[in-house]
Amino acid sequence: MAFEVFNSLTRRKEPFRSLEPGVVRMYNCGPTVYSRAHIGNFRAFLFADLLRRWLEHSGYRVLQVMNITDVGHLTDDVGGDGTDRMEAAARKEGRDPWKIAEHYAGLFLQDLRRLGIQPAMVYPRASDHIPEMVEIIEGLIAKGHAYQADGNVYFEVRTFPRYGRLSGNRVDETEAGARVAVREEKRDPADFALWKSDPQHVMKWATRFGPHGFPGWHIECSAMARKHLGDRIDIHTGGEDNVFPHHECEIAQTESFTGESFATYWMHSKFLQVDGGKMSKSLGNTYTVDDVQARGFSTRALRFALLRGHYRQPLNYTWEGQKDAASALASLDDMTLRLTRIAKAEQAEGEAAAGTDGGLELVRGARAAFAAGLDDDLNVAQALPALFLLRTAVLEGRFSRAGAVDALAFVREADRVLGVLEEAPADLDQRVQGRIAERQAARKRRDFKLSDQIRDELLAEGIVLEDTPQGVLWRRK
Ligand code: AMP
Ligand code: ZN
Repeated sequence: MAFEVFNSLTRRKEPFRSLEPGVVRMYNCGPTVYSRAHIGNFRAFLFADLLRRWLEHSGYRVLQVMNITDVGHLTDDVGGDGTDRMEAAARKEGRDPWKIAEHYAGLFLQDLRRLGIQPAMVYPRASDHIPEMVEIIEGLIAKGHAYQADGNVYFEVRTFPRYGRLSGNRVDETEAGARVAVREEKRDPADFALWKSDPQHVMKWATRFGPHGFPGWHIECSAMARKHLGDRIDIHTGGEDNVFPHHECEIAQTESFTGESFATYWMHSKFLQVDGGKMSKSLGNTYTVDDVQARGFSTRALRFALLRGHYRQPLNYTWEGQKDAASALASLDDMTLRLTRIAKAEQAEGEAAAGTDGGLELVRGARAAFAAGLDDDLNVAQALPALFLLRTAVLEGRFSRAGAVDALAFVREADRVLGVLEEAPADLDQRVQGRIAERQAARKRRDFKLSDQIRDELLAEGIVLEDTPQGVLWRRK
């Protein structure tokens, strides 16, 4: 089966085909760096990472861009009213908004690394792309899609008949449901801001629209995607809340400006919930990567907890669920360790019973099932049983040496996509063996302090040493 993705634009699964053979251009809406990103945000970014890894596994070169929003994301982004989140945070913390942006962008990139997220080709910042935004806004004014009013520039929604196709919102409904008082200067309440004017704003630029202006959030992504990937891209991602107004507005701006279709596939991940409700900064029920680590979980286990469901299913984060994810992961780590031992023929039980193929057929089936799951719109939940079935087979002693070698190769392939398993078991094995040798040497020279220290250090990692007639063996707790 070929890769199929659920396209929010058409509301159905479609076979994936890139514009340019072998290359995928993908833009991921990134964080607004006014505070520390929470693990809900990382669900959206882990989904993008999984998508990129699966495309690479499928043989594509992926040109991936994830923006960093450091200006212009308003507290109420419907219709372009409200205050800039960056400036509001700066006021609250009594700091300069530029410093706030620098601080949280740094933490964000650090958290990405800790979660094993592959680096994008570039992480453009909105504030570095003002000329590119102005170019599009001027073009939209020239083409009659935008108008100026008192230093502000608005996109005139009625000039783009496809407005609403992505979200299903119709212009008249947007009007009726508009939550904010209609600005007099707008021709229509549904029109949204491309550029805003505010002398009090700290992050501001002088342009032909006025001396004290800053961009709207939507135009930022249109400009950064175009600058780094071109007028047309294959995939645009975000969280479910980005569908409207953000992505609807991006489509209107970009397509009105270029006259071409913007992204072929629009993909959105569902929110992470906590205690059955939304996890969000405004509700004060968010966890950061640090919070999860402080509870004793590794960032790998967090990655696994956030990735193991399907991205279009709601996921409820609980400590019980996190614990369960951690132990499921430990059992997979244990499986790779056992396979490594069989592959090295350390354990005789690895020899398959006469008349079986030593697990080769099993591995073939696991490979196919794993790929079928991910090809089906990145359904990790459907792909994972392939790995757990292998684990059962290992415990049942069904692998020969050749079968174990093949199984290990598959596990490594699968983990290049999932990115959750422990460092290569062979390396781990070597490192632990090295420490055991050091401990033996210490014991020989009666340095019991060091020998105990090494034992404790390994124990803290969950590795138990056992003295046996064959020498010291190690196993996982
Ligand atoms: P923001 O920093 O608010 O612009 O959000 C960054 C990304 O995180 C966006 O793609 C949001 O859709 C996504 N996001 C925000 N809250 C959650 C949540 N609770 N679960 C999943 N994704 C979220
Ligand atoms: Zn965006």
